[in-house]
Amino acid sequence: MVLGDGDVVVFLEAGRAAVSRARETQAPAHGEPVPLTEAAVNVADLALTRGDGVFESIAVIDGRFIALDEHLDRLAHSAALLDLPEPDTAAFEAAARAGVAAHPAARSSAPDTELLVKLLYSRGIEGADTPTGWVQVLTGPDHSRAREHGIAVVTLDRGYRHDVARTSPWLLQGAKTLSYAVNKAALREAERRDADDVIFVSSDGIVLEGPTSSVIVRHGELFRTPRSDLGILAGTTQAAVFRTLAGLGFETADAVLTEAELGTADAIWLCSSGRLVAPVRRLDGEAVPVDAELTSTLLRGAFGV
Ligand code: PLP
Repeated sequence: MVLGDGDVVVFLEAGRAAVSRARETQAPAHGEPVPLTEAAVNVADLALTRGDGVFESIAVIDGRFIALDEHLDRLAHSAALLDLPEPDTAAFEAAARAGVAAHPAARSSAPDTELLVKLLYSRGIEGADTPTGWVQVLTGPDHSRAREHGIAVVTLDRGYRHDVARTSPWLLQGAKTLSYAVNKAALREAERRDADDVIFVSSDGIVLEGPTSSVIVRHGELFRTPRSDLGILAGTTQAAVFRTLAGLGFETADAVLTEAELGTADAIWLCSSGRLVAPVRRLDGEAVPVDAELTSTLLRGAFGV
């Protein structure tokens, strides 16, 4: 994502110490939006040196926060998994709202502006024992092509079994940590294979999630998503889509899906807060049917886009 001119950052109170020394004389008061290009965290912050923290990405469409409470809950859940102090979710919400209000897109009358709000929460500067929190408000990229025409996806082995969250909780599967280097590497592997995205599969053949998305698989009138106890994130976008599908009279279920079931799907979607709902048009080089009409019904029904 290219950082936009108007993008802003808001530091939370506990995050004040993270403003870099060089800028200390002009350090912004906590809660006060600053241009993203001028904001800095301390080079000794464990977010930078260890990826030791958690985050959330929230869509804001025409000024509406999508699934804000679910994202705040998931931030707290991820923080608990990392034994971080409980985040002040009210302060995060206030910072997010202040940041959005300060973003030029919020003041323009452009009808379908999509912003992405990132909540970041790190263990803080090494040795300081104070977490760092800040919020970024970014102009969302244009996802219309992926939403309308679909994406090419490859399956990749995640390298652990489907029950890893139970057998090895220290691997933090199911927490949205700041360590996304593996997720980014998987996306580069997809690009090398001439694809746009990835569906991770466990070493024992169970469908998990994308590096930045949840998976929905359709067989007939039944729509299923991998269960969140498989060491994956409980997707807020997928949950909203399931509510819309249920409203349309379809059956939905959280399930254990095998890789073979992906191959027989009538349709597959990847869901995430940024891109929202993207139909899969190709899986490991094989065509997958795309239901453009249902996809646009879901986008409209669940998110008003
Ligand atoms: N799984 C992973 C690993 C993700 O990074 C994301 C997106 O943040 C999701 C699933 C989808 O979650 P959500 O729909 O709440 O954005």
